[in-house]
Amino acid sequence: MTPEAAPTPLQPVNASLCEQHGVRLLVKRLDLVHPSISGNKWYKLKYNLIEAERSGYKTLLSFGGAYSNHIHALAAAGEAYGFNTIGVIRGEEHSPLNPTLQFAVDHGMRLHYLSRSDYRDKNDANVLASLRERFGDFYLIPEGGSNALAVKGCAEISHDLLHELDSDDFTVAGACGTGGTLAGLIAGLQGRGRVLGVAALKGADFLYDDVRALLNQANVADPGNWRIELDYHCGGYAKTTPELFEFIEGFERDYGIVLEPVYTGKLMRALFDLIAKGAFSPGHTIVALHSGGLQGRAGFGL
Ligand SMILES: *Cc1c(COP(=O)(O)O)cnc(C)c1O
Repeated sequence: MTPEAAPTPLQPVNASLCEQHGVRLLVKRLDLVHPSISGNKWYKLKYNLIEAERSGYKTLLSFGGAYSNHIHALAAAGEAYGFNTIGVIRGEEHSPLNPTLQFAVDHGMRLHYLSRSDYRDKNDANVLASLRERFGDFYLIPEGGSNALAVKGCAEISHDLLHELDSDDFTVAGACGTGGTLAGLIAGLQGRGRVLGVAALKGADFLYDDVRALLNQANVADPGNWRIELDYHCGGYAKTTPELFEFIEGFERDYGIVLEPVYTGKLMRALFDLIAKGAFSPGHTIVALHSGGLQGRAGFGL
């Protein structure tokens, strides 16, 4: 029952900026891995779906905001692989549903809303107990899908890249929300190359501890070849600036790759800025993960 993966090519971005600085920029097109289980979420869910089935669970439950790519992917995965899904959503219900939640419902997900304060306590035993009382037993997937099995799935992105790249003089760069994808990239590279996270949230120093904790949960020794840029969040999670939208439009026009403003737009803008500042030495290869999430564009009127 392993989810079927489509090819995820490494696509060169022939920007004059890269030529000026002697670096090669490649985009790993994880957005193409599956039509509705998008990008990194496919890898994060893969071993969780296998484990849920192996342990005999019929229902998957997880948490997310109203525009969550994870909730969207979980609904699609549940439908495709025969699980009931429950999405526990932060905040109040709004009608009509936004496109993300409408998609989730159309693909069989039951939605349950938690006030912002209850949502903050979502991992407390009493909140989980009341969810079990209401919905029966379920396989619990944390917010954003990040756990040891997500790390194992995302490590496969790195295994792919090690086959595709011809030297270790490279950096794999990815946008960070919870850090689960970054932890998987680090785990899969086994100390080769370097990993660069770009935080999509403000004040995200906590990501260092969270990534280390996820590596630990996945029994992976930290090779230390990674860091996180904390200053490219454009004001905070899902916050945008006119300049960010301009960058995204220009990137699509010039290189034919569509981005979204929550993660991949911020990642790519950060990489262009870092390249312009000479942060990568000549001959270096930068692999930018296109982690998908394009469904979220609708929420920005894109
Ligand atoms: C969820 C998501 C991320 C963040 O992944 P984490 O593992 O939570 O850090 C990055 N990009 C996109 C498009 C996402 O949907």
